[in-house]
Amino acid sequence: MGRSIIEVRLEDISCPLGCKKEDEVVLTGHDLLHDLSGEFTIVKCISCGLMRTNPRPTPDTIGYYYPEDYGPYLGTQVRQAKHKGLTNIKKLIKPFVKSVINFKTTSLPPLKQGRMLEIGCASGAFLHHMAFQGWQVEGIEFSEKAAHAATKLGYRVHAGPLETAPQPDEPFDLIVGWMVLEHLHDPVGCLKKLREWAKQDAWLVLSVPNAASQSFRFFKSRWYDLHLPNHLYHFTPHTMELVLEASGWELVKVQHQRVLNNMIASTGYVLRDKGYAKLGQKLINLPVWAGRLSYILYPLAWLLSVFGQTGRMTIWARIK
Ligand SMILES: [Zn+2]
Repeated sequence: MGRSIIEVRLEDISCPLGCKKEDEVVLTGHDLLHDLSGEFTIVKCISCGLMRTNPRPTPDTIGYYYPEDYGPYLGTQVRQAKHKGLTNIKKLIKPFVKSVINFKTTSLPPLKQGRMLEIGCASGAFLHHMAFQGWQVEGIEFSEKAAHAATKLGYRVHAGPLETAPQPDEPFDLIVGWMVLEHLHDPVGCLKKLREWAKQDAWLVLSVPNAASQSFRFFKSRWYDLHLPNHLYHFTPHTMELVLEASGWELVKVQHQRVLNNMIASTGYVLRDKGYAKLGQKLINLPVWAGRLSYILYPLAWLLSVFGQTGRMTIWARIK
């Protein structure tokens, strides 16, 4: 990390589904999160519809776009004292709220405890959550700093890309990846690898931005989940199914998440550009204060999710 822009190299790649190289340009944009230099184009494969960032930074130089303060690494740190400060009233309300509200951001099929692998486990918050429920957990994390934080919690975590991760000792019952597949240079190769590491009846659960939502068309280059150039693929339920199929997986269920983070932060980008820098930035820095707001906005998010319009989805897949 800490590379200069001069060291970032770009590569031109074809559709990973092996289609004829015929693409249409969807849009052009740049890094809005850290305002790092470089302009990037999203193209759509004319044969299958899969959208990708092309050309894109090479695997060995994309670290430039993951600075040390990269939000997702920080946002998943386990806060040890989390449950200590609950007042009695909150303790009473919490189970009730949990039974009514389901954001579907990390929803899992009904499963009994077993072995779980999380790809892109960041600082280990979800590993911690699942271990607490009796799962044997392992992780893979690209950021060394985040991987170190997860290891310190006592979990086995491979620091580095999925491509270099060693074969596990035993296959997994569940493999999850929260907002990570779109960051991978070779999603098909990686999903094939995960298939090899999964038990025959295992589940694969992934969340990704949903580029089929109207908000993608509306916000265009200011759509928060474009996240250029870190997001190399921009999936829809249809292209997600194709990518899974090409990797030996079968899409079982698509769940539209009941959160509006993507839309709120996209609005922030628009406001920032229109001169409302302070308010815009507040909306963009959503993870810091989104907790309560997501409860308030839940009814609207729920309604939009019915129509597949929240901009993020969680998919369940099984071995084909
Ligand atoms: Zn294609």
